[in-house]
Amino acid sequence: MEKKTFERDIVIVGGGPSGLSTALHLTKIAPHLTSRILLLEKEHYPRLKLCAGGLVIDAENILEALGLDSREVPHVDAKSIHFDFAGKGLNIRGPKHHAIRVVRRDEFDHWLAKKAEERGVEIRQGITVKKISPDENGVSIETDQGNFRAAIVVGADGSNGITRRSIFPNDPVYTARVLEVLTPTIPHHSASTSPDLEEVKARREGVAFFDFFPVPDNIAGYVWDFPTQVKGTPMRCWGVYDTNLLADQKRPPLKEPLAEEMKRHGFDLNEFEIKGHPIRWYNPQNKISIPRVLLVGDTVGADAIFGEGISMALGYGNIAAREIAESFRRGEFSFRGYRHRLARSGLGQTLFVRWLITQVIYTFKWRWFQILLWRMLKPIVLFVAWVFVLNWSKRDLRI
Ligand SMILES: Cc1cc2nc3c(=O)[nH]c(=O)nc-3n(C[C@H](O)[C@H](O)[C@H](O)COP(=O)(O)OP(=O)(O)OC[C@H]3O[C@@H](n4cnc5c(N)ncnc54)[C@H](O)[C@@H]3O)c2cc1C
Repeated sequence: MEKKTFERDIVIVGGGPSGLSTALHLTKIAPHLTSRILLLEKEHYPRLKLCAGGLVIDAENILEALGLDSREVPHVDAKSIHFDFAGKGLNIRGPKHHAIRVVRRDEFDHWLAKKAEERGVEIRQGITVKKISPDENGVSIETDQGNFRAAIVVGADGSNGITRRSIFPNDPVYTARVLEVLTPTIPHHSASTSPDLEEVKARREGVAFFDFFPVPDNIAGYVWDFPTQVKGTPMRCWGVYDTNLLADQKRPPLKEPLAEEMKRHGFDLNEFEIKGHPIRWYNPQNKISIPRVLLVGDTVGADAIFGEGISMALGYGNIAAREIAESFRRGEFSFRGYRHRLARSGLGQTLFVRWLITQVIYTFKWRWFQILLWRMLKPIVLFVAWVFVLNWSKRDLRI
């Protein structure tokens, strides 16, 4: 039989949390495969990635299980998460001393890439993958710097990634619109010390805030306000997320609710740079693999309720690495079991439940329902959040 020579057995396209987590989990689960991994990243670290950088407890659990401590990355800890509907809502506190850890993605991803390199993973930066073509014997990978050949490819290239577009060119996409803005903690012209402003400011100190007030206006999402830091300077990260579930043909403008929320705090949105990026959210119908190619992270889908995708991306890496290790053991790369493996994992289950919750909380957009949900059904919301939304990673880490 003719012997094939591959540049590498495993090529990972994209060095965000999902690609790096896949590599890191492989080094842990199947160390003999480490020298056979090549990760291609189109940017150079530390590279910008538009993201609010909120790490929930599951992200920390997965990193811890990999022997990594996210406290090494510059961060701000929010002591609680607040869900609000037009002025009132409910608070969630974490089991540790913080509810959410906020990082900057340029720093976080760079740190994670260094950890992967320290464990023997080869990362080539500044290479853009242009096309993936799988065949019976392997996968050809066209890049802006020549072609590669691999036994298998992991598509970890994010919401707009070329891997998914190469293998599922005609599949439907479910994407959210997201805008993000960074500001100082208090407005520049803060002679504005009105009692109202002082009160809202005090309510926000150290809190990751989600306000669902735009839902009745057909924005199936929320406005957020997180504490953060940039190069050690305390800042605030604001943004607006819309799943597009209520959009029909006409998409309501996104800037208005963000501007409205920021104005309540004395900020003028027009004074700041607004950036936007789509998030692909998980839909159970999304295809996730074909023979020799499997997808992870945003290429499959982030959480639909919040667009929370960092913990998910880290979790996909764990599931994908197990599927890959088993495929190499068997010498068979159909990845037929990947969908089932994901579906029965804690990650797959939380993604499914979050998708279901999304259909309810945003489709029932009426004001009375939102008031009922965020203000009156507190015990039920807290129970669902604790059992189905958070803490999914523990199950996957026990496998
Ligand atoms: C505005 C905004 C705010 C968000 N806030 C949060 C939050 O607070 N908390 C949270 O958990 N999630 C948040 N998310 C979602 C989160 O950013 C994503 O879910 C997460 O980054 C997904 O990780 P990933 O590794 O799958 O993809 P990405 O992080 O997008 O990484 C993909 C990588 O692939 C590289 N790449 C792309 N194309 C190619 C190519 N052709 N060749 C080679 N390399 C390529 C990119 O440069 C990138 O490094 C937010 C997203 C947005 C847009």
